[in-house]
Amino acid sequence: MYLGKIVELGNASDVYNHPVHPYTEALLSSIPEPNPEKKKKRIILKGDIPSPMNPPIGCAFHTRCIYVQDKCKIDAPLLIERHGRPASCHFPL
Ligand code: SF4
Repeated sequence: MYLGKIVELGNASDVYNHPVHPYTEALLSSIPEPNPEKKKKRIILKGDIPSPMNPPIGCAFHTRCIYVQDKCKIDAPLLIERHGRPASCHFPL
């Protein structure tokens, strides 16, 4: 969930191993890796979390998304099937 809205649905294995929404990917990247030998890509989200009372126009995550494109800033993505499960992103991973 982001700003009170579901951004991705799926079983735990699918979501953990193959996130399709950029916010899910960023959240999963923040989980510490217990094996110091193993390198892990860490995504640091920039910017402040917008107010859920006044969310951004378009995709609510667009102000912090590393994959943002022009369409994201004007058109809110629906929670529809993307790569086999529901996700609200115009450009799923
Ligand atoms: S719709 Fe655009 S801004 Fe929103 S999560 Fe997808 S790529 Fe990022």
